[in-house]
Amino acid sequence: MSGDSSAAPSAAARKAAHQPGFFRRFLELLLLLVSSLAALFFFKSAEDAAAEKKRLEDELRRVRRRRRGPSGGSGDGGKCAVCMDNPLEVALEPCGHVCLCRDCGARIDACPVCRAKVEQKKDVFLST
Ligand SMILES: [Zn+2]
Ligand SMILES: [Zn+2]
Repeated sequence: MSGDSSAAPSAAARKAAHQPGFFRRFLELLLLLVSSLAALFFFKSAEDAAAEKKRLEDELRRVRRRRRGPSGGSGDGGKCAVCMDNPLEVALEPCGHVCLCRDCGARIDACPVCRAKVEQKKDVFLST
């Protein structure tokens, strides 16, 4: 009687002692899976962030190039000498100066730089 009642708890205890091991193993596996998933997620997000940063830097560079410093030298940025706004688009002949946009070039008879009479205007495409 007393042996029966003492044997049951010991068996249960033995079973309980076995179970934590299994659970622990399972938990470890689960943790490994979760951590690997988290690592994958972080890696992907880091990759995305790098791509986003690159895109932003590209955009910034493009904007900077378009502005080309309002505090920079005059005429150095390749702007029309008359309207100071449009890019250089025509070369004056025969003096050869490239200092006007197409709009202003059409309106002008003398070169604003050397005042030579303009006989012809040529379209130019600056690659800066
Ligand atoms: Zn102009
Ligand atoms: Zn000229």
